[in-house]
Amino acid sequence: MPHKKIVMVQDKKIALVAHDNKKRDLLEWAMFNRDLLAHHEVFATGTTGETLGQQLGLKITKLQSGPLGGDQQIGSKIVSNEIDFLIFFWDPLEPQPHDPDVKALLRMAVVWNIPIACNRASADFMISSPLMEGEYNRLVPDYEEYRTRKIDWGAQPS
Ligand code: PGA
Repeated sequence: MPHKKIVMVQDKKIALVAHDNKKRDLLEWAMFNRDLLAHHEVFATGTTGETLGQQLGLKITKLQSGPLGGDQQIGSKIVSNEIDFLIFFWDPLEPQPHDPDVKALLRMAVVWNIPIACNRASADFMISSPLMEGEYNRLVPDYEEYRTRKIDWGAQPS
């Protein structure tokens, strides 16, 4: 499949999400990386964003709480190119009421080829990458072929 380039500018739009048992991990990570995060535009699901905003003293665009639709809002922003990065500390040991939304969000990140970090080590490597410093051309499959695929609509009334 051919690809299209989407330019990620120097100041990245980063979404932060953590399940309840992982919120402390994300807070510690974000405090440690506060000065790096300050260069970027930060979004978060409601509860995560509330505490992070207070503790970091950074402007964070808060969306709805995850189980109430916040994950879907982030997914939608990925689709419309309003989010460049996803840092999502999901809990591998607890079922969540919004598991389908979690799966959908992770899927959108892959469909649109945005970097995702799901644990602290990945988030450390990502935030300290030299690629964070400048523009980056993100390659996204050209989905035109998919959009224009042949569908068998059956017999149409004439
Ligand atoms: P929350 O949502 O930040 O509102 O708790 C996180 C999640 O998706 O579970």
